[in-house]
Amino acid sequence: MNREHRRSLIIGSGPAGYTAAIYAGRANLAPLLYEGIQPGGQLTQTTEVENFPGYPEGVTGPVLMQDLRKQAERFGTEVRSGLATKVDLSQRPYVVTFSDGVEVEADTIIISTGASAKYLGLEDETKYAGMGVSACATCDGFFYRGKTVAVVGGGDTACEEALYLAGLASKVYMIVRKDHLRASDIMRQRVEQHERITILYEHNTVGLFGDNGVEGAHLVKRLGQPDEEHVDIAIDGFFLAIGHHPNSELFADYLDLDETGYIITEGATPRTKVPGVFAAGDVADPLYRQAITAAASGCKAAMEAERYLNDQGLL
Ligand code: NDP
Repeated sequence: MNREHRRSLIIGSGPAGYTAAIYAGRANLAPLLYEGIQPGGQLTQTTEVENFPGYPEGVTGPVLMQDLRKQAERFGTEVRSGLATKVDLSQRPYVVTFSDGVEVEADTIIISTGASAKYLGLEDETKYAGMGVSACATCDGFFYRGKTVAVVGGGDTACEEALYLAGLASKVYMIVRKDHLRASDIMRQRVEQHERITILYEHNTVGLFGDNGVEGAHLVKRLGQPDEEHVDIAIDGFFLAIGHHPNSELFADYLDLDETGYIITEGATPRTKVPGVFAAGDVADPLYRQAITAAASGCKAAMEAERYLNDQGLL
């Protein structure tokens, strides 16, 4: 195991991690950033980002993330591939072990590990993994050109995925458990008005079927009600868009997490209860979960890291 020492270690490569890296780099902290399992984070799985300031015509998620990475590297960030597998925050310097066989001793750590897609928890989701079940329309939509797919969820992500898939597939079902969409008005209108999207309100998925991959889904309308009704739909692809859970498990022994697993920070700051360890972006944000709010918290975390290093006489 190689061991090396760093003043600034950033774990995760979404908008929070890269923005932290830009600020830490410009503060001369020579940050080391590990990309994690999904380089570029969740935004690399979205299509058009229309609400990141500075892009009046919108920008695709992957392009935005490439730009952020280039900007971080320009100021001296070293970007590596690898997953954090073990942490020891019991004494300083803190030690993080990565899947590339490196143990990093860090004076400060910015945790920006983001959040991952949730699944319904059906056995069939595992059975058909890679055979028709996906949590990323942008990644897998291409395989469903001219076919029929379903998207589960009623939030903005589900609408975005449904609209993206409607550009490829011949028919898109949205499976929504309530009698309304949670999504913003503009997204709701777009899916409701789309001729290839059919919204199945008050439907829950209880299983999938098919001999060679997904060929259909077993649904129940008004599940648990006296008038519940079993409905099967024929589909070729089943896309989950029901939210995310924070990637914080590795830090649970040392940091405070809320009941869902989000890292609890001090008020509006990114400070965790361990001095010199900060949390930024979706891993610590159950409320806003936007690229721009993640970027802002990454900035705050880097500024806090610099202050901490100064206070400790480590700069
Ligand atoms: P949300 O938490 O907003 O929505 C999740 C959806 O999945 C809800 O409709 C929820 O149903 C449904 N759901 C959750 N669990 C289940 C389950 N077990 N079975 C069936 N349905 C389930 O998550 P999103 O990922 O959509 O959005 C997260 C945040 O990101 C939001 O703040 C959103 O506004 C934002 N966002 C913004 C975008 C944009 O501006 N372009 C694009 C994408 C996301 P129910 O309503 O019944 O709880």
